[in-house]
Amino acid sequence: MTDLSIAAAPEAAAYTVVMKFGGTSVADAERVRRAAERIVAAKEAGSRVVAVLSARGKTTDDLVAMAYEVSARPDPREMDMLLSTGERISCALTAMVINDLGHEAISLTGSQAGIVTDTSHTKARILDVRAGRIDAALSDGKIVLVAGFQGVSTAADVTTLGRGGLDTTAVALAAALGGDCEIYTDVAGVFSADPRIVPDARKLTQASFEEMLEMSASGARVLQLRSVEYARNHGVRIHCRSSFEDRPGTWVLTEEETMERPLVTAVTHSTDEARVTLTGLPDEPGVAGRVMTALAEANVNVDMIIQNEPESMGREADMSFTVPRDDLTPAREALAPLRAELGIADVATDARMGKVSLVGAGMRSYPGVAAKTFSVLGDAGINIEMISTSPIKISVVVREDDVPKAVLELHTAFGLGADAVRPEDPRGVHRPTVPSR
Ligand code: ADP
Ligand code: ASP
Ligand code: MG
Repeated sequence: MTDLSIAAAPEAAAYTVVMKFGGTSVADAERVRRAAERIVAAKEAGSRVVAVLSARGKTTDDLVAMAYEVSARPDPREMDMLLSTGERISCALTAMVINDLGHEAISLTGSQAGIVTDTSHTKARILDVRAGRIDAALSDGKIVLVAGFQGVSTAADVTTLGRGGLDTTAVALAAALGGDCEIYTDVAGVFSADPRIVPDARKLTQASFEEMLEMSASGARVLQLRSVEYARNHGVRIHCRSSFEDRPGTWVLTEEETMERPLVTAVTHSTDEARVTLTGLPDEPGVAGRVMTALAEANVNVDMIIQNEPESMGREADMSFTVPRDDLTPAREALAPLRAELGIADVATDARMGKVSLVGAGMRSYPGVAAKTFSVLGDAGINIEMISTSPIKISVVVREDDVPKAVLELHTAFGLGADAVRPEDPRGVHRPTVPSR
């Protein structure tokens, strides 16, 4: 068993830790000071410390709003120039505090830190981390503060990594420097549901990369999806914990390292989904491919897709899919030229959809989970509009207004709460005993 506690680094070995602080954790001067003290404590314990700091409080939201005040369609390149400023402010301020505390700190922009991305402004992907400058500063005994959520593109422009992208910067730096990644946030770890909706949600001690990927993909924004993908691909261990108390949080690890394998681990949700329905599609090979290619070229992420086969050959088909609400306008624009070209009868959109998902590595091949999920929602009078499954997830699309009730009902029905009694078969679904390893 691996020792998961972050202890003082051994004398000679250089333990590297990348500490990420979210927006709430640096929201005001007092919190910046507390974050700085925490960073200094890790350094004094003997670690090589890199800290990745978010824009303060709601700064990123305010910057986005500012852009829309002056432009209906802000230019993506200029949007990135604007958004990248928030993280720089936090890094410079925190560096000042650390210097006052008697340690040497240096703040770096994403570009100076060697974060190289592709050219997709506002949703860039990290292509390379050239960590030489950070490494040299660490070897000089400095604490390095990196403005996360940003990088420099292969065309030498400033880019940002999409909302929540600071998590990905932190993981990418941990991968490049061979360290662990600590995500400090405003909740005590990853919970069995969003604690803002479910007050008795349980803090998970561990989650596997597979579970966390499904959770992040289905709305648990505590870790950005790409950060979990990056961590899994590069073997980076993530410790997600509270920036306000010094207790262990949740470790995200490989499935081999995790010990708990409950049937259902968490209920996740998202309230910013939109649905697009295309009616009267020609029932011919290649049509679905054309539709999805047009959306992919517009950088729209399509999630759930349903296509209704017509009753007889040669008739028309219908297709519905969900996209993030922010992608609805680009999706409509991407589909517009296809209407005439393919002869699509109608493109209808609904911007007020939500998604609720059940995730658990233990649910592989236990059909009882789906049956119970649908019955619970039915009994609560919640209409299911779309369904999709993976081996370890069941997702349903419901009206946005129904999301909180659906989350609460499912969380209770599957006994996920902190106070839930956990006898042999606590979820009321048939489950064979898992042999111990
Ligand atoms: P940060 O600014 O630190 O990056 P975020 O707002 O991005 O913080 O993510 C933390 C938030 O994620 C929490 O405040 C919580 O409301 C939300 N959240 C949603 N689902 C979960 C979950 N399953 N476990 C923990 N937090 C969750
Ligand atoms: N500040 C950015 C955002 O709000 C990046 C992050 O915090 O992850 O999305
Ligand atoms: Mg976040």
